[in-house]
Amino acid sequence: MNDRTQWHHDSWLVHAGRHTEPGSPLNVPLVPASNFIIGQGREYSRDDGTPTWEALESIVGGLEGGMAIAFSSGMAAIAAVFDSLAVGSEVVLPDDCYQGVAGLAMDGAVRGRWTVTRLAMDDTVAWVEACRSADLVWLESPSNPLLAVADLEAICAAPRKQGAIVAVDNTFATPLNQQPLAFGATISIQSATKFIGGHSDLLAGLATARDESLWHQLKKTRELTGATPGTLEAFLAARGARTLALRLERAQASAAILAERLASHPRVSCVRYPGLASHPTHATAKRVLKGFGTIISFDVAGDAASADAVCRETELIHHATSLGAVESTMERRAAIPGQEHLPPSLLRLSVGVENVDDLWVDLSSALNG
Ligand code: PLP
Repeated sequence: MNDRTQWHHDSWLVHAGRHTEPGSPLNVPLVPASNFIIGQGREYSRDDGTPTWEALESIVGGLEGGMAIAFSSGMAAIAAVFDSLAVGSEVVLPDDCYQGVAGLAMDGAVRGRWTVTRLAMDDTVAWVEACRSADLVWLESPSNPLLAVADLEAICAAPRKQGAIVAVDNTFATPLNQQPLAFGATISIQSATKFIGGHSDLLAGLATARDESLWHQLKKTRELTGATPGTLEAFLAARGARTLALRLERAQASAAILAERLASHPRVSCVRYPGLASHPTHATAKRVLKGFGTIISFDVAGDAASADAVCRETELIHHATSLGAVESTMERRAAIPGQEHLPPSLLRLSVGVENVDDLWVDLSSALNG
């Protein structure tokens, strides 16, 4: 029982990252230090980390099955991966992904740093083929906001170029529902701003590498760019992570119920949820995910104005961006710059831990106008 590697993930989340020596604080200490007394190898936090950052890294790294490095945000972790590319590299990106990543990739392409090819997430054959020549295979699964699930089993195991990186943005799944490194990916990304923190009160990110040299490279980039996590943010993210399993279990069960109910609502023309048999990547989702998650994207029948009205009408569900928190949030994604290609009335709902019947009353009342 004392072999930590044998703990289930929910036990790991509660206990990882603590110091267990007699006299140690029971909880992760909040250590707001820029520098340390010289002698034990830790001198300056930007270079060497802090006990608070390391606690968060240990919690998430253990879940992902690799070595994690914490950053100031999910985007900082993502930028560190792109930063490792040599000039002229080939990047493959899903056609549906978080607009910040697409923006970063396209910006680098315009400046001649790398080339970008976009592929449909469900075109596994094209992804497997692209692995032969790409330097960075970037996957986001389930994708934001169409919730397409990649066949990580096939893509991460495909023959790839020597030294190529296969990175998976695992934010929507969380390491509880999907472990990209176990499929053969080299890096797994978390925007800890979302599910890990879970309370909409921080920005943080983590990159977890399978191999130590890649971890060192990412750590070096954090040191050189100064993209370090805030101490309070790392503390809050580690504290939030303690309840991740409970929050996810509850919100995911509610999401499955709401997705079914939305699918039969006359004012909803399309529901995208990987757990629904109607979702284009449902079969893949059943194979690679341990749970279908807490995010639902659905189209309100009518135009953008009809969808905006639904967002204004809900009371329990906040009209706000972001996701993965205890409170439910919803927004119209095509209203966001760079997302105009999405269906105009598509709402992305992040289901929180409220009572599911209250959520349905709130949602259905708003839909019924
Ligand atoms: N990855 C995904 C899938 C996201 O949805 C987001 C933000 O919404 C990010 C990365 C970026 O994370 P952060 O806002 O922590 O930089």
